Amino acid sequence: MCSRALERRDGLIRWFEKNRRDLPWRVPSKKRNELRDPYRSWVAEVMLQQTQVAAVVEKFEAWMEKLPDLRSLAEATDAEVERLWRGLGYYARARNLRKGAIWILEKHGGKFPRDRAELERVPGVGPYSAGAILSLAFGMREAIVDGNVFRICARTEGWDCAVGDPAHVARAWEIAREFCDCARPDLANEALMELGALVCTPKAPKCAECPLRGSCASALDGRAQERPRPRAKAPEKSVVRTWLLVRSKGRILLRLPGRDPDGLLKDHFQIPSFPGLLSPAEVARKWPGAKVARCGTLKHSITNHRISGAVFSVGPAARGRAPEGCRWVPEAEADGLLNHALARKVLRAVAAHDADAAP
Ligand code: SF4
Repeated sequence: MCSRALERRDGLIRWFEKNRRDLPWRVPSKKRNELRDPYRSWVAEVMLQQTQVAAVVEKFEAWMEKLPDLRSLAEATDAEVERLWRGLGYYARARNLRKGAIWILEKHGGKFPRDRAELERVPGVGPYSAGAILSLAFGMREAIVDGNVFRICARTEGWDCAVGDPAHVARAWEIAREFCDCARPDLANEALMELGALVCTPKAPKCAECPLRGSCASALDGRAQERPRPRAKAPEKSVVRTWLLVRSKGRILLRLPGRDPDGLLKDHFQIPSFPGLLSPAEVARKWPGAKVARCGTLKHSITNHRISGAVFSVGPAARGRAPEGCRWVPEAEADGLLNHALARKVLRAVAAHDADAAP
């Protein structure tokens, strides 16, 4: 690593101290041996993965009000943590936070391990979260490489690579490790991430305002916006399905996580669906004796999957044993379990149909 990086660090920390945003997770810890509460740092960094700060602030505050520490998180249910996570996407992250809280309580007496290898064994803690907890909460010289840091490295070093290119990710970790090797690794890491969020932004980097511009390869050659290249997109896949909201005596039928035939949303409870577009007669044959109503159609995208199809309401249905891979769930509980946008579109289509059909 060249000495120019060290010049960058001092200028960047000065810039950060003037420009840092007040955020609810940037609160000093009351404990003597911590800069910040590691639990709050962990939750914040996991929430911030793939989500803008503005969307996280309110969610973070609501989470901390209900689950202020490891113990309250460990004692919560998956449905509770998913409800608090709603809107942030990637719900497995919320469930992993809970698993991680249980792990730390059981294996480390409720104290975050201060060793990277041990910390990375905690469910839900990857190399990025470990670096964030160790440096921001405990002031340790541990690096962080997230999308912001990778983008800054690619631009300052002039890499013509794609986002996530493995050789350049490894190089970014080397740079980040050297960058945080100083008296205040917490400030160095956070300054780098803040620069990525406020100045060296993905679409319109503000090079004229940047404290790194004097030593940045992309500011010199004017190619900041080209670096790094986006990842190659996976080809689009079309998925056509028919969803059945089957109701019986205050319960609805849900498909259990991991049982969806397309493998989409595999971590989630889902409203059962069948491949292709079923006719009312075909749906009626699946639930003999139940009233069947077609409630409309929907469209939805998940990564490269373009999903479309029809929504049916089925019921009241006879409530026998739930089909393989499904479970009858009280309607009041289903709301907490169906926490992804696709299920909510199905529920909205049925609710709109029920409202139209009401006398
Ligand atoms: S000078 Fe421009 S490209 Fe370089 S780090 Fe700053 S904002 Fe990013």
